[in-house]
Amino acid sequence: MKGSKSSTEIIGAGWFGSVKSPKLKTVKKQVSNTPAGLWKKCVTCGEILQTSKLKENVSVCPYCDHHFRLTGMERLELLIDADSFQEISPNLRSSDPLKFIDKKPYNERLIAAEEKTDLADSAICGRATVGGHPVAIGVMDFFFMGGSMGAATGEKIAQTMELALEHKIPAIIVSCSGGARMQEGLLSLMQMAKTSGVRRKLRTANIPYFSILTDPTTGGVAASFAMQGDVIMAEPKALIGFAGPRVIEQSIRQILPEGFQRSEFLLEHGFIDRIVHRHDLKKELTFFIDMFCPHLISPKKVKPLENNPAL
Ligand SMILES: [Zn+2]
Repeated sequence: MKGSKSSTEIIGAGWFGSVKSPKLKTVKKQVSNTPAGLWKKCVTCGEILQTSKLKENVSVCPYCDHHFRLTGMERLELLIDADSFQEISPNLRSSDPLKFIDKKPYNERLIAAEEKTDLADSAICGRATVGGHPVAIGVMDFFFMGGSMGAATGEKIAQTMELALEHKIPAIIVSCSGGARMQEGLLSLMQMAKTSGVRRKLRTANIPYFSILTDPTTGGVAASFAMQGDVIMAEPKALIGFAGPRVIEQSIRQILPEGFQRSEFLLEHGFIDRIVHRHDLKKELTFFIDMFCPHLISPKKVKPLENNPAL
């Protein structure tokens, strides 16, 4: 239109160029005097722990019960019967659909994560047995890009549930994730809907789904399949939530209660069903599979769990 300016011209097309890029604060990492490899310092009680002894105790501090993070393979070893794992889609990896570049290209980040963890993506999925029962299981590995959920991760979680559906066996997902993977933008967010859709199919088919939440379970993972289990178990003091506490405090302009977003707080407020110590996790999981799938097991008597007021 002659004589009238478009909205871009009114605002000024050059405004974007004049925006100064924010200065990022650099946080100095504390230098540890503890020799790496043989010893590890507990982040909660400060005790110096022998790495081999810590491994024997499934990475739980013997002094304060702090649960250190496990890799995906360590998690599988903890939960499933020995030599029972058959992996599905081990080579499924992200194709970097957006050709995303931040400080460095996403593809370079993927290669670095692959070399560090020896995995193609942040989820390891497949078929296994737990306490003799066939199950479909998926575990997330925080050491692969913070356990973030890209399109490949979502696909693998969905495949795990499809496997459960096909064979009419329980599905187990162990979440350990910082949430959706920002380098895949909307495609990563779409995994929330995709996994929730398959989860719905499990419910319709009356197939149980057990969700285990570990430290941390946040963002898009917490907002989708992690919170949709028929039984939701969490490890003690695990960080579980959607947004970080600082973001919430700034949004609602209120100080959050102590222990907010930890397993104990969530149990008290009905978000999760149980807090289970890592030492008891396999036993409890087997108990719930026994209870939910009596047709899957030999007529072995289901023993009630100790100290369980709910049962
Ligand atoms: Zn400790």
